[in-house]
Amino acid sequence: MKVQEINRQIRENSIENIIDKRDRKKNKKPLQAYAASWANEDRLYDCVGYTIFIVLPTSGCEWATKSGGCTMCSYIADSPLMDISEENLIEIFDNEWNKQLSKTDIASHENVAIKIFVSGSFLNKNEIPEKVQEYIFNKFNKYDQIKEVIIESKPEYIDEDSLIRLAQLIPDKIFEIGIGLETSNEDTRLNKINKGITNQSFERCVKTINSIEDYDIRAKAYLLVKPILISEKQAIQESIESAEYAKKLGVRRLAYCPATVHAGTMMDYLWKRGSYNPPWIWSVIEIIKEVRKNVDIPMIMDTAGFGTRRGPYNCKKCNSKLKSLIIKSNLEQEISPELENYDCDCKQQWESDLEFSDILNTTTNPKN
Ligand code: SF4
Ligand SMILES: [Zn+2]
Repeated sequence: MKVQEINRQIRENSIENIIDKRDRKKNKKPLQAYAASWANEDRLYDCVGYTIFIVLPTSGCEWATKSGGCTMCSYIADSPLMDISEENLIEIFDNEWNKQLSKTDIASHENVAIKIFVSGSFLNKNEIPEKVQEYIFNKFNKYDQIKEVIIESKPEYIDEDSLIRLAQLIPDKIFEIGIGLETSNEDTRLNKINKGITNQSFERCVKTINSIEDYDIRAKAYLLVKPILISEKQAIQESIESAEYAKKLGVRRLAYCPATVHAGTMMDYLWKRGSYNPPWIWSVIEIIKEVRKNVDIPMIMDTAGFGTRRGPYNCKKCNSKLKSLIIKSNLEQEISPELENYDCDCKQQWESDLEFSDILNTTTNPKN
């Protein structure tokens, strides 16, 4: 059976389980409880600034509900899986936005970025209606301190009209669209991640973004470190090549997500059967070293899940230290000598794992 078919079955079962569990609960979770927001120090394009993150609930990523979605993604479990009216969405956004405004005076920060996560595509009108998209953008234009507004979308919803419609609401700000490229290897992307994005469609939308001259619209590429069904060594190589590919096309920033195993996904299915392991943190560091050296655009390495049973892992002795050094490297956009030269007993094990995983073409690590 093909990966896509198994993935679709796993997703259908997982959605059924989620709905079943929710139906059996006496106290239903209110829609607002699916939303979240927080803020922290973060790297902006030109400096360290203050970033506000807002997560909005939607009816669910259409790619996941209709086609099974990506083999590592569990966002659907965080979605209410029901239609949400425009009024409700606006109310939910306002609640989160006001929560953040009550915590900090935006005017007290020099450089602020806003990141909106919808666990799907912001530009898909079936997930976020146009009226709501515009309502949200109009809020941001009131603040000169907001320098960057970042959303996420699959390429099929990115066209000149939708970009200009929103960009003109925030004419003096950087408007960034994060696209889940995941890897430059089309076979891995289509047949192992099940992303449904061809190289051609990615290249077309980066070209469209860069062709609009009246506004500062930029493309960001999300890259997945170690998808299913590839070896540790191949995962490192693909991650490095992907950065070079994206840079060459005109992508302006990179955000790597080293894989963490989420319940209800095909990655979880393989992991439970001993056929997948998340990457070593050493592999992640190798990618940082190469990309910082050879690809001169800003790059962030996500550290969520580091050191946990389901996330990127080295050993108990070095997990947390390396996580904090990577966070520092994200803020400074440099690799410190301490990170560059860090050593630990577990490094040898990683080196031999790289060699054997390649010879045996295995996606799991002997350490496990
Ligand atoms: S990674 Fe994005 S496109 Fe893929 S299933 Fe998750 S939300 Fe949908
Ligand atoms: Zn270690």
